[in-house]
Amino acid sequence: MTEPLEILTAALRESTEALAALEKDHARMIEASLDSNADDEHDPEGATIAFEREQLTAALHRTRAARERIVEAMAELAAGRYGVCASCGLPIAVERLQARPLATTCINCANLGRG
Ligand SMILES: [Zn+2]
Repeated sequence: MTEPLEILTAALRESTEALAALEKDHARMIEASLDSNADDEHDPEGATIAFEREQLTAALHRTRAARERIVEAMAELAAGRYGVCASCGLPIAVERLQARPLATTCINCANLGRG
């Protein structure tokens, strides 16, 4: 039986690794843009580079925000509020938390569109 703490610990580790990889890519990207001194507007590849840069920055923000929510979920777990449906107050099935560690509603409420 998987404990909620194990689920959150695994999710935290995953997102920490993903964040580290993205931060490395991001730092490399900034370094590259300083080196090349590229003119985005007149370089034919500039638009693509700008797009990739935006995508990477967005992914970085998304991953950082997701990681913060996992940290919050761990605080909720410590306070005994994690894994409780926000809609009906019943416990959320462990299987659902494994698939979606940040789920705030049980499967029944989610299916009813209440989550
Ligand atoms: Zn519910």
